[in-house]
Amino acid sequence: MTSTPQTTAYIYQQIVDRNPGEPEFHQALHEVLETLAPVLDKHPRYREEKILERLCEPERQIIFRVPWVDDQGQIQINRGYRVGFNSALGPYKGGLRFHPSVTLGTMKFLAFEQTFKNALTGLPIGSGKGGADFDPKGKSDNEIMRFCQSFMTELYRHIGEITDVPAGDIGVGSREIGYLFGQYKRITNRYESGVLTGKSPNWGGTLIRKKATGYGAVFFAEEMLAANNNSLTDKTCVVSGSGNVAIYAMEKLQASGAKVIACSDSNGVLFDKNGIDVDAVIQVKEVERQRIKAYLEHHPEAEYFENGNIWDIACDVAFPCATQNELKDKDAQTLIDNGCIAVCEGANMPCTEKAVALFHQHKVAFGPGKAANAGGVAASALEMQHNATHSSSYDYSEEHLHEIMINIHRNCCQTAEEFDQPGNYVVGANIAGFRRVADAMLAFGVI
Ligand code: NAP
Repeated sequence: MTSTPQTTAYIYQQIVDRNPGEPEFHQALHEVLETLAPVLDKHPRYREEKILERLCEPERQIIFRVPWVDDQGQIQINRGYRVGFNSALGPYKGGLRFHPSVTLGTMKFLAFEQTFKNALTGLPIGSGKGGADFDPKGKSDNEIMRFCQSFMTELYRHIGEITDVPAGDIGVGSREIGYLFGQYKRITNRYESGVLTGKSPNWGGTLIRKKATGYGAVFFAEEMLAANNNSLTDKTCVVSGSGNVAIYAMEKLQASGAKVIACSDSNGVLFDKNGIDVDAVIQVKEVERQRIKAYLEHHPEAEYFENGNIWDIACDVAFPCATQNELKDKDAQTLIDNGCIAVCEGANMPCTEKAVALFHQHKVAFGPGKAANAGGVAASALEMQHNATHSSSYDYSEEHLHEIMINIHRNCCQTAEEFDQPGNYVVGANIAGFRRVADAMLAFGVI
């Protein structure tokens, strides 16, 4: 029996009906399923063995209470999550997000995307995601520590270096990973370095991990431009967000000869016509833990727009590096009207489906997050390998990360061409990721 786009539409509708009230999960499913009909046509076994239906159902979803005591002595209660989506290629792997917007649906969308992303790296990692509806903003260091300890007091029984290996994401950086690891070690009586990645380099982390997502997105953008006989040199760029991914994307862009003129946070947009001073952003965001507006204290000549829209700033290349659905169709149209030639997603699903359709329609090179931001999880997988050797001196180089991103780009291009959609990185990433996971699932039988 051959597949038609209608059958993937039917599968999509069934999954939506089984997972009501999870719009971001539906969106991520829609974007992927829409591209998979040709691969199901080509390989009927995927359809006969219901690989798609199985792949869209998370293997496990854990929800738990996280009680903690704030600095005023008041008891606070948050909700924690860990979704293990697919372990066909290795232990569940994916970050933890602490943000008030976190729901089970957010976790499922992120873990679903992670399935394809992790497969694309070519490394032995399954997919997962977790977090809590906890808002770290304005919390003291002690409150963050108590929250992390309570969160891990439940999470520890579900994770392990060959079971599930969380890392950071929005609101979870090396400070939080430190508190989480400390509590895991204390409860389990095991110095199990490989249970978390994104660790500090002096206790089991790798130097490249912190920079890997941002650097990787820039390497991917370089490849996209090179495929069109172009380069980042002298290009004007804007990068949304000012967190881990945004900071290191900006650092690598400046090093590659591009000029970054704007970045942001959820309060506003920073514009510096002289080029953003990344060291000042690091000082403001990572050292002082302030809002991006505080950059003006270092560079009074820069401009700050409260509640501004970063996509209104004209640029050659745009890097959405903050959060999901931050770049909508009207923003895409503004970027196109202003002459933007490429968009590369550092964040997960930052562009809406309508925005992506506009980029494709107007021949703007578009790098989807599941390919373009895979450098972070690839570096995490290398950190796991490093931890498994119990070595203190081994580290991975930027060249290694660069090579991985070049391979992901090549794989996306070749797959898109194989399916008659040259230059469509969405098709390339979805099909290449899907095939690797699906083939492993076929080999394992019905489990
Ligand atoms: P982060 O360090 O916490 O920084 C997030 C940045 O995005 C902050 O500047 C934040 O501003 C902004 N932001 C968050 N929610 C927002 C919202 N609703 N509206 C506007 N701005 C918002 O997080 P990150 O690690 O850089 O992650 C950024 C994105 O990259 C996420 O989509 C994440 O899933 C993805 N990603 C991260 C990694 C990684 O290695 N960290 C790997 C792959 C993908 P505020 O401070 O004002 O909230």
